[in-house]
Amino acid sequence: MDAPDVPIAQHALIARLGEIVGPDHVCAGDRISDDLVHDESLTAVHHRPIAVVSPADTAQVSAVLALASDRRVPVTARGSGTGLSGAANPVPGGIVVSFERMDTILEIDLDNNVAVVQPGVRLDQLDAVLASYDLVYPVFPGEYSASLGGNVATNAGGMRAVKYGVTRHQVLGLEVVLPDGEVIRTGGKFVKSTTGYDLTQLVIGSEGTLALVTEVIVRLYPRAPHQATVLAPFPTLDDVTAAVPKVVASGIDPLVLEYIDILTMTATTRQFGLELGVSDEIKETAYAYLVIMLEDNHLDDLGRDVEVLGALLTDLGAMDVYVLPAAAAGQLIDAREKAFWLAKANNADDVLDMVVPRAAIPKLMQSVGELATRYQAWIAGCGHAGDGNVHLGVFLADDEAREALLHELFQAAMALGGAISGEHGIGTAKRHHFLALEDPNKLALMRRIKAAFDPHGIMNPGTLLDVEVTP
Ligand SMILES: Cc1cc2nc3c(=O)[nH]c(=O)nc-3n(C[C@H](O)[C@H](O)[C@H](O)COP(=O)(O)OP(=O)(O)OC[C@H]3O[C@@H](n4cnc5c(N)ncnc54)[C@H](O)[C@@H]3O)c2cc1C
Repeated sequence: MDAPDVPIAQHALIARLGEIVGPDHVCAGDRISDDLVHDESLTAVHHRPIAVVSPADTAQVSAVLALASDRRVPVTARGSGTGLSGAANPVPGGIVVSFERMDTILEIDLDNNVAVVQPGVRLDQLDAVLASYDLVYPVFPGEYSASLGGNVATNAGGMRAVKYGVTRHQVLGLEVVLPDGEVIRTGGKFVKSTTGYDLTQLVIGSEGTLALVTEVIVRLYPRAPHQATVLAPFPTLDDVTAAVPKVVASGIDPLVLEYIDILTMTATTRQFGLELGVSDEIKETAYAYLVIMLEDNHLDDLGRDVEVLGALLTDLGAMDVYVLPAAAAGQLIDAREKAFWLAKANNADDVLDMVVPRAAIPKLMQSVGELATRYQAWIAGCGHAGDGNVHLGVFLADDEAREALLHELFQAAMALGGAISGEHGIGTAKRHHFLALEDPNKLALMRRIKAAFDPHGIMNPGTLLDVEVTP
């Protein structure tokens, strides 16, 4: 246990935390690594916590929360810290509960096709184990080092949501610790239940503001052995976005349906040295690309679907249709998943992920273009077009002007029946926009739900709602 240079009033708390989890698993003061005090949000403010505590099991999590509740100490959970909304950033005077030690895959239940995992299990860790059973957990947000606990708390999505939905569609049950230390189980190894309010779904996406997740039951699927990836350049963004609903409605059931605009594609191919076989003439005239991945158990069926898709894309105005070799396809998907790092490396000032009904993407992109011109901003885009989730890298250095632009962008998405965030969450970074734009009656209900779970407001204060810790 390290507790140098901390006020005497905090020593007792740190000492008690050490008694609960073992002194080696509490870190305090200057010994806390900078990496543990923020996530990957480009704009969220972060503070240093009193301590970072790493429990080994549910009983320790429960004891830590009971102590924090008793002393009214703010608690911020931390998975892998890959979040993009500042939701894992601690508040002053708070503690961080890190789940790095709770990283055991507890069970692969082949009869019920579920896995039971601790929250610190990483997506890449689970995927490697499931591959040996020819199974897959199908939620693949772009960063595979993310933890299952973080995925639950953010309702993580990713490229395959167009086929498999997001985390909330694949989580069947949870074990959670309530702020006073009580432990409850929700759901179970079954897909249906009409037995009271669905507490599993309430906790999913709550960004650590209601309870801490200590166990997750997820659905598993057979791992399809055959995949094909098709790349289709289009002359305008309108053509691309108008093609998306038609591809979804065609019945070919894409695994991935992404769009990449010309700015992002050019930067991506340059940065990662991608050679996709696109002719120079098309590179110069294409405005945006669709990337469509299909999977199947049978090679013949896959080949037939690729042919149908190619014909459809041509009808919809594609300038050409490329079936990518497996290596190039893998590189392109990988590069697309790294789009955030690319935006960051190019000094993007913010990254947004609004969602609209997929058929409304053309109208949203029209508003994005108009707002970019009016604010003299660069906005580069790519995204999970199949599920209406548009990712935008915003380049506008002036903080005040950028905040005004963001406000109008979120308004535009909401006016089309969409929402501020499809998967990254509200966190601390977008909270003021959320509070300003969301229906006040819904916000009031969310505050009442929060108070029912967390009467003293200790769970991740500052994230999502403007609830403060009560004395
Ligand atoms: C390059 C890159 C690409 C990405 N692509 C995608 C994408 O395609 N789709 C997508 O959805 N996201 C994406 N993300 C965002 C991020 O990976 C997800 O939000 C992920 O779910 C965060 O998991 P984490 O373990 O890192 O959580 P953290 O960042 O550590 O925490 C996120 C939230 O979960 C809470 N939390 C963590 N563990 C628990 C727990 N056990 N109990 C209660 N609350 C907890 C935290 O308090 C915080 O509120 C991307 C991020 C990067 C850096």
